Amino acid sequence: MTRKWIFMGAMFVLVGCAPEPAGMVIVNARVIDGSGGPSQSVSVRVVADRIVDVGSFEPLATDTLVDARGLVLSPGFIDVHSHHDIGLLETPGALAAVSQGATTIVVGADGEHNFPLAEYFARLEGSPVAVNVASFAGHGTLRNQVMAADYQRHATDDELAEMGGLLRTEMEAGALGLSSGLEYDPGSFSSTDELVELAKEAALHRGRYISHIRSEDQYVWEAIDEVIHIGREAQIPVQVTHMKLAMNRWWGQTDRLLGKLNKARETGVDITADVYPYPAWQTAFIWLRTVFPNRDLDRRDGAEYILNDMLSPETILIPKYLPEPAYNGMTLAEIASIRETDPVTTLMDLLKADAAMEGEGAESSLLAFAMDEADIESIMTWPHTVIGSDGELDGAHPRGFGTFARYLGHYIRERNVLSLEEGIRRITTLSAEQVGISGRGSIQVGNYADLVLFDPDTVAARSTPETPHVPSVGILMVWVNGQLVFDRDKASGNRPGKPIRRPDDE
Ligand SMILES: [Zn+2]
Repeated sequence: MTRKWIFMGAMFVLVGCAPEPAGMVIVNARVIDGSGGPSQSVSVRVVADRIVDVGSFEPLATDTLVDARGLVLSPGFIDVHSHHDIGLLETPGALAAVSQGATTIVVGADGEHNFPLAEYFARLEGSPVAVNVASFAGHGTLRNQVMAADYQRHATDDELAEMGGLLRTEMEAGALGLSSGLEYDPGSFSSTDELVELAKEAALHRGRYISHIRSEDQYVWEAIDEVIHIGREAQIPVQVTHMKLAMNRWWGQTDRLLGKLNKARETGVDITADVYPYPAWQTAFIWLRTVFPNRDLDRRDGAEYILNDMLSPETILIPKYLPEPAYNGMTLAEIASIRETDPVTTLMDLLKADAAMEGEGAESSLLAFAMDEADIESIMTWPHTVIGSDGELDGAHPRGFGTFARYLGHYIRERNVLSLEEGIRRITTLSAEQVGISGRGSIQVGNYADLVLFDPDTVAARSTPETPHVPSVGILMVWVNGQLVFDRDKASGNRPGKPIRRPDDE
């Protein structure tokens, strides 16, 4: 609040005797406000958890000053697809997220969420963390609740009604919408109609549908058609999460991909996408079994298909292999040469040994360098693409620590894929819009003070597949709800993060 001067007779009198609350003013900043407009040299004043002034003004004597020294001040980054909730309550500083400028993480992606959401949000309120947390409700989680172990089939009408009831409860608890993970169990066994029905329930609450689609390689075109169909039938905004063409055969076909999406938009489907700024995907190593016919690991043609059509032995990196830790960090090509067998046999043998250890609480991991850099850049330039990390606090993929720094350093500065202002818009205002978060994502009076101060000339990720837990450089200070959570190279210890519930009045 600024002091008010009122005209009284011939003199101005300062009214309002309450002392001005102490604030923080960030001066000498190049402010990029998230709108996509040009940067401005203005000051930003924060009181408590809000931005109260943006412009040229004199700080008050009681204000704390932060000298930005000409660096960029932007809204905090919104990670639209995050798994940083894994272990978050135990490691509330969330260094992986805040050290790259993420102030809000959107969890519950890929069809799995912390159930029931009302309880999870209450836990976050009782034991706060450094970042804000919003969540989708996961289709797989709802399916598990209703169908349990008997999930390898379509749901019955009664089961579907029960899932719909659970989804309604989660939407009322503040879920942003419905997420699905259709390449994974149990989502892979669902029919499209099941998803349409549940998406309709989410739409009733003005929610959205975000999907790890049914195939990102072999059947990617059919999978894109399915998500468009769901958007059209359920009348719900849909987002293809971590969009990619993860198969050599499809590389270079982003025109076909974006053409499909544009055509859907022209015919009334509000379809959008997010992407992570890396050419490798990561999952459990055993997931490759789903590519084998009938999931039968004795089927040599399954391994041949993977190695001929999807991935070369050099592009399969195994960060962690439980049955034989000596292989940790090696590619399939390297392991095959140690074992003096061909890659197809090696892959089958490794998967069989890994399957035998399933259920022991940990899993072997896989990093697959399956995407083409030119495709990633082309997807990024689509006007409806935002960025999500798909990362974890303690994951095997460098995206857990590096996503936003790599995006800003590599794709924006070095590759010039987008202007800095547009690049920032994609990870702030547009992200907030596409997942349905209000009051955040732009530097404007009244918004929550989620802010990042960074150096656009040096920002860069340092995490790699070999050392995935190294913080980035160039991200200097990060505030969440007006409190500093990251200061140069360390977490501050503050825990100002809040659960973010879908606004009722959206
Ligand atoms: Zn996913």
